[in-house]
Amino acid sequence: MEQHKVENAEGKPKLSNSRETNWLKVLFQIQVTLSALCAVHFLLYESYWSTIFFMFTLTFLAHIGVAAGAHRLWAHRSYTANGILRVFLLFCQTMSGTGSVYDWVQWHRLHHKHFGTDLDPYNPTRGFFYSHIQSVTLSLSPAQEEALKEIDMSDLEKDKMVMFQKRWYIPLYIIFVLLLPINAPAEYWGEQLSASMFLVFWLRYTINLQLAWLVHSATKIWQLKPGEKYPADTNLVFIITKTNWLAYHYMAPWDYQTSEYGQYGTDVITKVIRVFAALELATDLRTVDSNSVRQALTMSLKQKRNITDCLWELTQDNNNVPKEHFLTPSKYM
Ligand SMILES: [Zn+2]
Repeated sequence: MEQHKVENAEGKPKLSNSRETNWLKVLFQIQVTLSALCAVHFLLYESYWSTIFFMFTLTFLAHIGVAAGAHRLWAHRSYTANGILRVFLLFCQTMSGTGSVYDWVQWHRLHHKHFGTDLDPYNPTRGFFYSHIQSVTLSLSPAQEEALKEIDMSDLEKDKMVMFQKRWYIPLYIIFVLLLPINAPAEYWGEQLSASMFLVFWLRYTINLQLAWLVHSATKIWQLKPGEKYPADTNLVFIITKTNWLAYHYMAPWDYQTSEYGQYGTDVITKVIRVFAALELATDLRTVDSNSVRQALTMSLKQKRNITDCLWELTQDNNNVPKEHFLTPSKYM
């Protein structure tokens, strides 16, 4: 009997949206979480203060790698980093253990392009649990695999450092996520190896993973739900004031001042990027002032154009934000 093919509007065969559970990933996540809980014992009773300090320092550096590196630099090009800064950010991002920059960016761009649909790998409309945890234990659906191929990654493919990290990710992971961090406390201040392993690997890794997953699921915490009094897609007040993470970040993802967790211009990572700029390691910090956002809204209404395009056009025209605005940021909020 001839099999009936389901086709979409363009006449192409419709691909399945179902995703398989990767049970190895599920077991690994259970292992990570349980070990992090055991690490609390070492944190409270059996470790040197220097080990705890070392653990939180690495956690912070790894988070800089994810937020300032993978997210704001490589995924959204919200500023330009020189060679030294890119090596530093790549090193920090490797320590986070969240996958190579290339893979992280490809999935994040897919998430932005198809936000809230079946093609979005972290689809927050399916709830916090799905967006935050379950999605990282699932393989991509055939439809998502196809959509992933259409994501433009040419900028990263030209970046030799990013491609080096992608190619050598597993050995780099073993060295910079496991061996060196665990060895340092035992080697330099005589920490017991078990305390070092539970704190500097399991607990730190868990915190970094949770922070990285929140980049995709935070919308469920800080976002108004569709159908509430001010649904996200129509609430222009949030865009003008740049206070709502979802509404603003998804319209102007290239704005370096947008925090991963709901603030605008006041979060630690934005301040870290300003320090990089002051040290001349980062240049071309891309942002708009509130006045330009209002101009973009007017432009979009008058010309009946997409607001995202209008905002982008205004940043290209330099929108009254001087290059050195990061030294007096509050003037341009
Ligand atoms: Zn983003």
